[in-house]
Amino acid sequence: MGALPKDWGVPAITPLNAAWFTSGALALQRCASCANVQHPPEEVCRACGAMDFGVEIVAPSGTVHSFTIVHYAANAALADAVPYAVVLVSLDDAPHVRVIGNMPETPVEDVRIGLPVVPYWEERAAEDGTVVQLPQWRPG
Ligand SMILES: [Zn+2]
Repeated sequence: MGALPKDWGVPAITPLNAAWFTSGALALQRCASCANVQHPPEEVCRACGAMDFGVEIVAPSGTVHSFTIVHYAANAALADAVPYAVVLVSLDDAPHVRVIGNMPETPVEDVRIGLPVVPYWEERAAEDGTVVQLPQWRPG
């Protein structure tokens, strides 16, 4: 219950998302021009329009800002996973940044808005063999 299948598709790694999906850290984009941090990574800073970025590693903690519980397996491969939580986590070091994830270890009835959470990373292999560090969440 609650965990996506181990062979579930993982994102293709691109120069834009490599830090997020391979570092095993909450690695956000930091604008080189105005220092805004943002996620998901994009080519343009949402604050100032600049296009040069560095990486900002933020503390591994956050708060459940919102969530939904998925009861219907939209794909047959998810039949054993439902019900599972999809959480929107506000990061403590950058509360305006919200990231989407799952809480595979947590009973869905324990997921609530305001719950303090910490990330952990599941290692998955992409189709091209790249090792992806997939962030997941647990109460913290
Ligand atoms: Zn900027």
